[in-house]
This record gives sequence, C-alpha cells and structure tokens, in this order.
Amino acid sequence: MLWSGWGDPAKAVDLPGPVRDLLGKLLGVRAPETPAADLAEVRPPAPALPPPVLDELRAVVGPAHVRCDDEARVRHARGRSTPDLMRLRAGDASGAPDAVLLPGSHDEVLALLRICAERRVAVVPFGGGTSVVGGLTAREEARARFTGLVALDLTRLNRLVAVDTESMTAELEPGLRGPQAEELLARHGLTLGHFPQSFEYATLGGFAAARSSGQASAGYGRFDDLVVGMTVATPRGTLELGRAPKSAAGPDLRQVILGSEGAFGVITSLRLRVRPAPQTRLYEGWRFASFTEGTAALRRLAQDGPLPTVLRLSDETETMVGLAGPEGIGGSASGGGCLVVAGYEGAAEEVPLRRERAAGVLAGLGGTPLGAGPGESWAHGRYSAPYLRDCLLAAGATVETLETAAFWSGLPRLYDAVRLALHGALGSPLVMCHISHVYATGASLYFTVVTAQSGDPLAQWEAAKHAANEAIVAAGGTISHHHGVGRDHRAAYAAEIGELGAEILRGIKERLDPQGVLNPGVLIP
Ligand SMILES: Cc1cc2nc3c(=O)[nH]c(=O)nc-3n(C[C@H](O)[C@H](O)[C@H](O)COP(=O)(O)OP(=O)(O)OC[C@H]3O[C@@H](n4cnc5c(N)ncnc54)[C@H](O)[C@@H]3O)c2cc1C
Repeated sequence: MLWSGWGDPAKAVDLPGPVRDLLGKLLGVRAPETPAADLAEVRPPAPALPPPVLDELRAVVGPAHVRCDDEARVRHARGRSTPDLMRLRAGDASGAPDAVLLPGSHDEVLALLRICAERRVAVVPFGGGTSVVGGLTAREEARARFTGLVALDLTRLNRLVAVDTESMTAELEPGLRGPQAEELLARHGLTLGHFPQSFEYATLGGFAAARSSGQASAGYGRFDDLVVGMTVATPRGTLELGRAPKSAAGPDLRQVILGSEGAFGVITSLRLRVRPAPQTRLYEGWRFASFTEGTAALRRLAQDGPLPTVLRLSDETETMVGLAGPEGIGGSASGGGCLVVAGYEGAAEEVPLRRERAAGVLAGLGGTPLGAGPGESWAHGRYSAPYLRDCLLAAGATVETLETAAFWSGLPRLYDAVRLALHGALGSPLVMCHISHVYATGASLYFTVVTAQSGDPLAQWEAAKHAANEAIVAAGGTISHHHGVGRDHRAAYAAEIGELGAEILRGIKERLDPQGVLNPGVLIP
C-alpha cells in the first residue's frame, strides 16, 4: 500500500490535462504550492514505551514480530480518510504507534493484551488500515492516559482454518485481506461475496469490526449478515460466540462485537456464511429520467423482488460526471438522467431468469435499457476510484466521501439535507450521490464531494463534515451505514443512541477492558 495514498504505487494514475483545466474553471482548483512529503523524510514522534515493557512484548511474539522502525510506525499511523491522507502528505506522522506488534495466534493476542492492560499500554487493533472514520489514531488519548501506544497488526493471522460444506460456513482468521480470503475459498468452489471498494486491502477482521458492506450486498448481504460465529480476545479472557445460526438464548452477543471497532476486544477468528462461487456474472445499465424515479424502481425491487446481486443508482450529477469519462454511459452519448447498474451473479441456469424478471420490473417503472456496456464498465473500474483521489489531492482538490442510511420514506429529505449542508459549508462544491445498498425498508446514500482546497484544507473539510453530520442527525439518518463510528462520528453517534445507549456501551467496555487500553477514543461517546 502506498504509504500516504491508496493501493499499489504501480497503479497510480495521473489526472488528464483537460480534467485538470475543467476543475480549475468549474471549481477554482489550483495546484498546491508544497509538494507531498517523502516517506524517507517523515519522522514519527519519539517512542514513549518503556524498554522493559517492549522486552515483555517481544518475549510473547518473538523479536522479529515487534517492529520499532520509522517506516513500520509511519505505515501504522492512521487510516485512509482524506484528512488522514492530507496529514500524511504533509509529513505529519504524529499518530504513529511506538511499536507494531505482529501476533501469530489467538494465545499470543491474549498474552499481549494482558501485558498491555497490566502496564497501561494503549492497543490499536490494525487490519488493513483502511478505516475512513479515524478508527486507528489513538495517539492523543495514549499520550494523556497511557505509558505507550502499540499497533496490533493482525495480518499474520491469515489462515483458512476449516470449511463446513454441509452448513456452508468457513472459519477464517481475521488478518486475511479480501483477495486472500477469496482465493482460499475458491479452492473449495466457494465465495464470501463481500466486495467493498477497499476489498483489495481491507481484512476480514476489519470488515466485522466496522460492519462493512460490499458492492454486492443486495445478493450476498452485508458482512455482519455473514458472521455466524467468532472468537474474541479481550484483556479479561476469551469470548467464544455463535454455537448455532440463530438462538433465543438471550441477547445476541455477536452483535455486541460486530461494529465494536477494536474497543471491546480483538477478533481472532470468524465463522462465516459462504456461498457457491458464481458460475455466471452479468452486469448491465439502465437509465431513469430522475433520481426520484430511479429510487422508486430500486425500492420496488428491494420490496417485491427479484433482487439483482448488485444494485446501484447514481443521481443526476454522479451520472453526468460518469458520462464525462472517456467511455460515457455504455460508450455512447446519452440523454442524461440517472444510471442504474444491475448485476446478477449465481448459477448458470438461474441468472438469466432472475435478470429477465428484474428487467421487466425496471422497464415497467420507466427504465431504458442501456445494455451490458455501462455494467461491464462499472465492474471493470470498481476498485479504481481511490487511485483518482490521490491525483485529485495532488492537483489541489479535496475529494472525500460520506455515507448514511434511512427508511425509504425519509430518504428524499435526507438526500436534500446533506446536499444543502455541504453546499452551505463549501460554497459551490461538486456533490454526487448514489444508492448502493438496498433493503425492504430503506437504503443507504453515499455522497462524494469534490471542492477546491482552501488555505487550510483540513479545517475546511472538518467544517463541511461537521455540517453534514449535523444534517444527517437532524434529518433522521444514521451517522454511518457501513464506515463505522471511529473518532470522527462519535458525537453524532452519541446523539443517535442517547445517553442511556452510551452508558450501556461504557458498561460493556468497563467489563471487557477495565484499564481502557483497547483503541481508546473510538466508538464510545
Ligand atoms: C478507498 C476506500 C474504499 C472503501 N470502500 C468501502 C466499502 O465499499 N464498504 C465498506 O464497508 N467500507 C469501505 N471502506 C472502509 C473500510 O475499508 C472498512 O471500514 C473496512 O471494514 C476496514 O477494514 P480494515 O481491515 O482496513 O480495518 P482497519 O482500518 O485496520 O480497522 C478498522 C477498525 O476495526 C478495528 N479492527 C481491525 N481489525 C480488528 C480485529 N481483528 N478485531 C477487532 N478490531 C479490529 C480497528 O481497530 C479499527 O477501529 C473503504 C475505505 C477506503 C479507504
């Protein structure tokens, strides 16, 4: 992973000259004066961890699995939100841990947590490092309350432990990145079907800890739907959860750990629902006259079926910007409106039937078929947008995303409120939106914002994000559909669950992590 950007450095892209000119003319984007910092020049803060504690930690995992070099520390300093990248690009590695620990088993995680609790060392569980909500940056809290800060990098926990083809479940370790997990399951003809845009770098543990949702959620479900069991290491010992798919034995404690963002424990194993790997994949495009009409069509499919595996609707602006790309909708000129991508994955004989029935519904509700072009083009470029963010940042534009969800009846109000808040805070930004996760009762809204960087782009975005968060809360949306709470959404989450809800979370934290060493500052209001 590029240390201050996204993905494979070999796949970095340049902003085409005409796009750069257009950004200058439309949004007033100007190239920043200071170039981005070089990794070799960046210095993390002086480590605070007392050497005898470091020796105790080394004794658990072996000296080779404790990294204290600058590069390892900087690479574990923060996540991948736009403010994270802006700070790193400016050479600010102030969030860096004192050391990076790489445990190789559940028992090692348990032992490390015990030492950290005893010695008052803050611990940040670290999967793929793709958090976009400030889920990995405990430095401020650590400095104030603890003797040191370590990142617990889980990527050595990367095994497929067992496959149960009768129950259609697999036990997998949390440090597996998306492609590694899919490759291991493919050997058994299976898939998880979880493909978020961060798929190539994020890990299974991170998916569970942040309640991730993938692009094919209509067909396979969110990640939390896939989790049937888990093992969790806490400073107080081990939790084994999920001995049956569903149970009436009290509240479901799996749900307490899902979305807990490393604040309650470290997930060291996951038992997940798996599906047969699809024999056929088919993606296509539809055009609707407006976002309102497209939303009505998605609702109908979500409520009455048949559901495609992938279902997404871009609003007018996102559709227009997509059209401005080299291929346009389906590679041809289009009459505007809003693009729907519908994808179907499954058994060879089932996919065409489901596609035909869904196409009937979409056509009946005013959709115009655009053929396979736009669908295939979406599928081809589904992991490439984050690379574009890097070159936009370098060109002087701020580009960031935020997301929420609501019941269908509240969705139009939420859509208007967030757009209004962003325009109010940023002047004339480009605000694009899509729906990409649908349910019988509601859907998510995912916004992408592009604006010219001001003299203080961090403060500029912070103000815009604050305005958007307030608008989401006021309009009755949830503060996150799939990115999680982290630090960035804590205040809005407090408003969402109320003081009693916050007290419950504090109580659980107190029981599982009495010294409060686990990811201090995230989640708990
Ligand atoms: C470009 C980009 C695209 C994205 N697209 C999507 C998307 O389509 N859908 C989506 O849902 N999200 C998306 N995200 C957000 C992010 O990828 C998800 O939140 C993902 O689940 C994080 O996984 P990770 O392994 O990177 O976790 P990390 O970022 O390493 O950690 C996330 C949080 O979980 C905790 N944690 C990690 N592993 C464990 C563990 N084993 N036990 C306990 N706690 C743990 C961490 O302490 C942290 O609080 C995107 C992010 C980026 C940068």
